Amino acid sequence: MSTSSRGIVLERHVAVVGGGLVGILAVLYFAKRGWTVSLFELREDLRIQENKRNISHKSINLALSARGLSALKNTTTGLDEKVLESVIPMKGRLIHAGEGKLKSQPYGVFGECIYSVEREMLLELLLNTAATFTNVKMYFQHQLKWCDFDIGKLEFENKKTGNQVEYSADLIIGADGAFSTVRTQLMRVVRMDYSQEYIPHAYCELTIPPIVNNKGDDDFAMDPNHLHIWPLHSFMMIALPNRNKSFTCTLFMPFENFEAIKTEDDLMEFFKKYFSDSIPLIGEERLKEEYFRNPKGSLVSIKCKPYHYKDRAIIIGDAAHCMVPFYGQGMNCGFQDVEVLDGIFEEFNISAVRSDDKLASALEEYTKRRHPDATSICDLAMYNYIEMRSSVVDPWYLLRRRVEGTLYWLFPRYVIPLYTMVSFSTMRYSEAMQRWKLQGFWLNMIGMSLLPIGAVASLWIGYRQFRRV
Ligand SMILES: Cc1cc2nc3c(=O)[nH]c(=O)nc-3n(C[C@H](O)[C@H](O)[C@H](O)COP(=O)(O)OP(=O)(O)OC[C@H]3O[C@@H](n4cnc5c(N)ncnc54)[C@H](O)[C@@H]3O)c2cc1C
Repeated sequence: MSTSSRGIVLERHVAVVGGGLVGILAVLYFAKRGWTVSLFELREDLRIQENKRNISHKSINLALSARGLSALKNTTTGLDEKVLESVIPMKGRLIHAGEGKLKSQPYGVFGECIYSVEREMLLELLLNTAATFTNVKMYFQHQLKWCDFDIGKLEFENKKTGNQVEYSADLIIGADGAFSTVRTQLMRVVRMDYSQEYIPHAYCELTIPPIVNNKGDDDFAMDPNHLHIWPLHSFMMIALPNRNKSFTCTLFMPFENFEAIKTEDDLMEFFKKYFSDSIPLIGEERLKEEYFRNPKGSLVSIKCKPYHYKDRAIIIGDAAHCMVPFYGQGMNCGFQDVEVLDGIFEEFNISAVRSDDKLASALEEYTKRRHPDATSICDLAMYNYIEMRSSVVDPWYLLRRRVEGTLYWLFPRYVIPLYTMVSFSTMRYSEAMQRWKLQGFWLNMIGMSLLPIGAVASLWIGYRQFRRV
């Protein structure tokens, strides 16, 4: 244990860069472990009312599932329960198949569900919880510019005053999102493998407002307990419910399609052709206003390795692995990063005071353990990019889903649908990926061996009917 010359125990100091969902959860875990924690966030404090309208986030609501809930549960007591009080359960997909046809596809055979949660509400709750710890300090409007990991120095620009300010820390955590400055700084000192891929699709958010029901109250315009999908192969729209009875729709399509819509007439023609049942729900005027006003966000998948540097720094969340949003796992995976890191600290007995423990080995172990999982979910998210806009209406895909679901119901230990492993369990993503591939192999083998039996059986039935005539 390290003490100062006056015999005072020297607490370890961690600087968390990035006050998004993952960064603030990391603050809670480190505060609970007894570290001195400083959070540095580029934006203003969103808990201050007038800042709310200035803060633009990536998506208004998110799908929260088992991994995210587990990480929330294992930090501050009751945090998961508080979150669950403000979410809307979604038990399956509701496919808008054109001409008003709706098809429900439950997510799980045992009634499992994912939850629609508002990003702002979750951020606010996490920030308020962090503020209850006396060992946490939060600095807003601080943009990291540069850091020297070996001496634990960080340089920020205070956006309010324009001044450059320096801080120091024993450990630096980069939770500063897809375009992470901590990651860029790490690349100077670490031989980091790095890849990124932009997909051709962009996204734009639209709103389905509440309707007034016959009691005169606000009500949902569609079933709130589903994630709604309008799958159109090369593009799609989804909608998630909000607590104020509205839905946030996200339209995903290639940039060139967005660019081709130049006028209100182009827009209405496009929506009438592809999403006609959504027009009365959104409302023509709102659709025109929001479509042309709201930003068109790009979608990128980022992989890198390693995530750490000696006992000095680590990156988590989107800073380490950014994925396309089609599995609804970006935040869930980032939350699980924090839980996994905490578990490794526990295993390696990492202390909250400066000591000769094995912090460097713990961080190395984190990269070793987490990298295959982060890579797997980035790949699965890319796979779901096709599944959601196309496969959900493909009869073969639906047949495999049904077969897998039935087998899971009969033999839950041996066959587990991919969606269940990813969204309703905390199983390692890499294990889920391997099991899914193996299950696919055996299902195909069984299917292929049943084909000749089926052919012989049909011939036999045909022959018997022919003899009877
Ligand atoms: C359209 C869309 C839909 C999505 N839907 C889902 C979903 O349903 N479920 C799900 O689990 N995930 C979803 N995601 C993914 C999810 O939004 C991200 O994975 C999650 O926000 C990552 O959190 P983070 O804290 O790592 O990064 P971020 O949320 O990006 O936060 C990073 C923070 O760092 C700050 N920052 C950046 N640079 C600096 C700097 N230099 N100095 C100081 N601060 C800095 C930023 O201001 C920001 O607050 C979706 C993403 C998109 C785009």
